[in-house]
Amino acid sequence: MNMRKYKYMMLRRLTQISVLFLFFAGNAYSWNVLRGNLSSAKVLDAIPLSDPFAVMQSYSAGASLNADLLTGALIVLIFYAVIGGRIFCGWVCPVNMVTDLANKTRSLLKINGSSESRGIKRAVRYWVIALTLVISAILGVAAFEWISPIGAMHRGIIYGFGLGWTFVVIVFLFDLFAVRNGFCGHLCPLGGFYSIVGRYGFLRIGYNRDKCTLCMKCIDICPEEQVLHICLNTCFSKSQRIFPRISSLREFRMLVEL
Ligand code: SF4
Repeated sequence: MNMRKYKYMMLRRLTQISVLFLFFAGNAYSWNVLRGNLSSAKVLDAIPLSDPFAVMQSYSAGASLNADLLTGALIVLIFYAVIGGRIFCGWVCPVNMVTDLANKTRSLLKINGSSESRGIKRAVRYWVIALTLVISAILGVAAFEWISPIGAMHRGIIYGFGLGWTFVVIVFLFDLFAVRNGFCGHLCPLGGFYSIVGRYGFLRIGYNRDKCTLCMKCIDICPEEQVLHICLNTCFSKSQRIFPRISSLREFRMLVEL
């Protein structure tokens, strides 16, 4: 096994599982390192952390926001604005493990072998953000939190699974059979929100088109296709000069995956 290839994957899994364990231990053993859930938590019973998107939904729903929630949201917002919002997706969100598994299974089963999105644009997730806030205002509840596979999986692991499993299974099946990276790359409003937040963060994927040799190591090593979509599109147009018979991104990916 090429350990270098999996180094970041293993570090990410370790971080995701550690975060889950600390939440679990907070509930099961009364550890105070990290208590609460991914929407609202406390570190060492002192520092509040809140999901800013969940806070926005609560505000739209008409809930009164206390100082802890607002301070926690501000801390998280500044943190991800500085280091890059999608860090949450790759290093914290538990659903990321499910979607990665769907992606792997999809490749193993050779389902479509391409990154086709069945006409679902990546920008849909930004519309989902707006829709979530509108629905929250109409229904008076934080809409995405009700159906979020992230919250369902997180609560399930810490407190035990109920019907929440179904949301997680739906995401897995959607990514496996319908659209590659479908949920995270196209629909998840939280991922979209963090993508906006981290747009100008310090940690960003660098891509120098002039230095690209089409070696495809980035595609080989990075499990997050959505992170590489800019390079993919650019590599594709560059590859057309070398392989003029390739006429679509799909063919390009098939060539890359050979
Ligand atoms: S896009 Fe959503 S579900 Fe996917 S990893 Fe990010 S926050 Fe989690």
